[in-house]
Amino acid sequence: MEERNVASFVLSESTHTLILDTWEQQFPGLVAGFTLRTGGQSDAPFASQNMGLHVGDDPQRVTENRRLLCERINMPFDVWTCADQVHGKNVQQITRHHAGAGKDRLDDCIQATDGLHTEEHGILLASFYADCVPLYFFDPKSGAIGLAHAGWKGTVARIAKEMIEAFAKRYDSKAEELLVAIGPAIGGCCYEVDDRIIDQVKQTALSWMESVTPLASGKYLLDLPKLNRLVMTECGVPEEHIVSTDLCTSCHTDLFFSHRKEGGKTGRMASFIGWRK
Ligand SMILES: [Zn+2]
Repeated sequence: MEERNVASFVLSESTHTLILDTWEQQFPGLVAGFTLRTGGQSDAPFASQNMGLHVGDDPQRVTENRRLLCERINMPFDVWTCADQVHGKNVQQITRHHAGAGKDRLDDCIQATDGLHTEEHGILLASFYADCVPLYFFDPKSGAIGLAHAGWKGTVARIAKEMIEAFAKRYDSKAEELLVAIGPAIGGCCYEVDDRIIDQVKQTALSWMESVTPLASGKYLLDLPKLNRLVMTECGVPEEHIVSTDLCTSCHTDLFFSHRKEGGKTGRMASFIGWRK
């Protein structure tokens, strides 16, 4: 198996994923990663490992892509659990009663939710991306795990803070003990935004300026992964507990789908996390 390190994630060509290797090695039984666009069954513009049922691809191929991933990572497809993502800040606790929600149909997804978390084993949480920021949460003490989908709207709504608060409430997790990972997203190199967005970025974190590079005439480059990192450190997550790929989806369309780079007509990668039973 050919592998290369991408800062805490390992690119696995045999499973067509980035594996969150630092966590998997340290915590046996934990499965966490992010799919590449390669290695699936879908045709252009969804070629080839499209994980999103909501983008107009053939649903049978999407389901097959998800099944294949589960085989490759050795998790049962029946426990794939995902939500209808709406760029909001709502997060939800998942139990065995929800396991399998949305695995092969849109109409039985967890409704209108961008963050999922659980303390139960034998559930695979999944969420979908093409430029937005994938956040992974893990409390080594309780074993609770979670995923949050943070595009610019979710980021400025501080879904990262919602997750940290939900972990505190449900699993008694302390922010200073949480581990967080940030997967591939559109980077500060490529994500150009205007004042409308920057006005909200200013309300998001005290040190928001670290995530913004002004360009000419009311345009800015926004580093969304960095802005999420600032939100989380301001909530008390230690900087050294946050790992990141720093891979830009728009710069690497050989590896990733990019909504912006590909003009909106493209597939979705999946972030995933679960405990093997
Ligand atoms: Zn870039």
